[in-house]
Amino acid sequence: MYGLPELLQHSNAFLCRFRCSPVAATYLAFDDTDSPEGMCTTYLAVLMLKELREYDLIGLPRLVRLNPNVPWKTRGNAAVCLPLGRGVGTSDYCGEIDGIAVQSYRRGTPADPKEVLAVAEAVLEREAEFDCDKTNPGIVCTNRRPSPRMYWRAVRGIVSLSEAETLLDECGAQWRKYKNGRGIIGASSSISWRPRDRTWEVIAYRQEHRIGTRREIDPLSVVEMDRNTVNTFNNYDYETEHVAIAPSSPCPVLFGIRGDSLDELLSARKMIRGEAPSSWLAFLSNQGTDDHVVDARIGGLSAGFSARVRACVTQPPRTIKGGHVILRVSDGREIDAAFYEPSGSLRDIARQLIPGDRIIAHGAVRDDPRSLNVEKLRIVHLAELRQKTHNPYCPECSKRMGSMGAGKGYRCKICGGHTSESAAVTKVVPRTVACRWYEPPVASRRHLYMPVRRMPGDDINKLL
Ligand SMILES: [Zn+2]
Repeated sequence: MYGLPELLQHSNAFLCRFRCSPVAATYLAFDDTDSPEGMCTTYLAVLMLKELREYDLIGLPRLVRLNPNVPWKTRGNAAVCLPLGRGVGTSDYCGEIDGIAVQSYRRGTPADPKEVLAVAEAVLEREAEFDCDKTNPGIVCTNRRPSPRMYWRAVRGIVSLSEAETLLDECGAQWRKYKNGRGIIGASSSISWRPRDRTWEVIAYRQEHRIGTRREIDPLSVVEMDRNTVNTFNNYDYETEHVAIAPSSPCPVLFGIRGDSLDELLSARKMIRGEAPSSWLAFLSNQGTDDHVVDARIGGLSAGFSARVRACVTQPPRTIKGGHVILRVSDGREIDAAFYEPSGSLRDIARQLIPGDRIIAHGAVRDDPRSLNVEKLRIVHLAELRQKTHNPYCPECSKRMGSMGAGKGYRCKICGGHTSESAAVTKVVPRTVACRWYEPPVASRRHLYMPVRRMPGDDINKLL
């Protein structure tokens, strides 16, 4: 996916601080503890670290997003994995909880999963939003990790509960499931994640008494931070003037800043003006990586997956009720590419496409109606757009012919000769879109969505 220079650039920044190679640790992971009204799986990590103070973090906490198209997800389909143990050697500052610094060790020795789980499950049972129908918590603790194949299946497709339990048994893992138990699927998948690509997020949490009230964040400080950092992304939506680092739900998160350099995120955090956070924590994450997207042919698309397809526009775009734009595209098999209202200016781009244009579209596949819900678009080739300037001249009399009605061709009033519609005199009209990537406003991007600014140049060429 990356060219060599990008790979080196990414890995140098990465290796100098936090190693992703397997560290000896005990992996504690949990999922599906939140509800639309409150809690947040990442905040549960903070609460757990508070009570697991006798253990050290061996590497960073991990925030792992899984398939955004699963129907039963609560909010962002996020699981958190904490690598724990006894730290050895160098450690790095990676958070602060109630005024106490959190350190992450580069190396360590594992702990006893049973003991870790006993502490952690008590925290989960106290804090998870059990009342929400869609909240089905799961917690897993293990010294041996499931194969990374489990992660790839969970981020791109669906892993069943029984499959997850079989894999956990094979690892000798300890786990507890609550309600329908689905949470252990995400929890174990987050443990199985070995990053191919990765980003970081620094999340700041609100003081207890403020949770549920309006967040006080100075929007200007977010814009300044966005302009004064180079490797952060999705901070501010200039199209809708929306602060994208703060959630809109009444959860404990004050803000989260995402980026490609942890060092820069640690300074970016201090640039935000507003209410004082109670705690903050840095996470290693698969957010912004497009890990959920697979290359596919239109004939092979199935609902619940996110795909990247190369296709040709076959019909002019049409706008349907609600302002959504539908574009018929084909790669031999046809599908409707749908640009829904939240995709904002991406719809305006879709409206300017014409039959013969070739595109690469990333999107989620829906079954009813069958469509590709486009999340990102690259125009690869623009067809020639011609506009009629006047009716044709008669080949016999050289006089201007008259129209016989739309699509019916032309007739000469003098000799009665006919010509087809295509005989009209036309001129080339300049296209108003270009061969490049187009993306939706920051606010409507999913967590796994890779911003175009993260996409290495090589990748674009490879896609052509
Ligand atoms: Zn004529």
